[in-house]
Amino acid sequence: MSPKELTKIDITNEVFKEPIEVIKQLSSYLEDLKYTKVIQTFVMEDRRLNLSLENQGNSYFKGKIVWIGNKKDDSEGTIFCVDTRTELKQINPTAENTENIILDVKRETIRVSTASKTKCAVCGKNIEIFDEVAGCPLCEAKAHKDHFIDWVRMKHACPVCKKSLNVSSSGVVFID
Ligand SMILES: [Zn+2]
Ligand SMILES: [Zn+2]
Repeated sequence: MSPKELTKIDITNEVFKEPIEVIKQLSSYLEDLKYTKVIQTFVMEDRRLNLSLENQGNSYFKGKIVWIGNKKDDSEGTIFCVDTRTELKQINPTAENTENIILDVKRETIRVSTASKTKCAVCGKNIEIFDEVAGCPLCEAKAHKDHFIDWVRMKHACPVCKKSLNVSSSGVVFID
């Protein structure tokens, strides 16, 4: 089978890795995808690519992809900025909130199957697809990014393993 005959491509691993890997996949399956690289961000020129958030096969959020970029703290993974016509929303797919990510070549749509699989180690609520995630570098603890950073700033320790942590001015958690 030639690549063009494939219509549904699993790009989960690429999205969890970094934007350039996602762009490579998109470019190889979608003809003439136009984008401009601005520092670490790929801006979609023609905004033809759609993103759909789905839960158990039902779409509950849709929009056009405006840009595909890095996480702000340079941790692994990809952020999608999506225009819903009423607002711009940033989608943060991670292993904590995402089942899989499929490129539907025919419909030029990235389908993100969402699932809240992890609760925030600080507030106990589910980590959702719109939430930025931070984690302890020493254990498996994951939390809403703001919650984790606030906790470490106050307590200088992980809320789960209690080991010594600190946070840089740019919001990167490190072992103290
Ligand atoms: Zn939280
Ligand atoms: Zn920990």
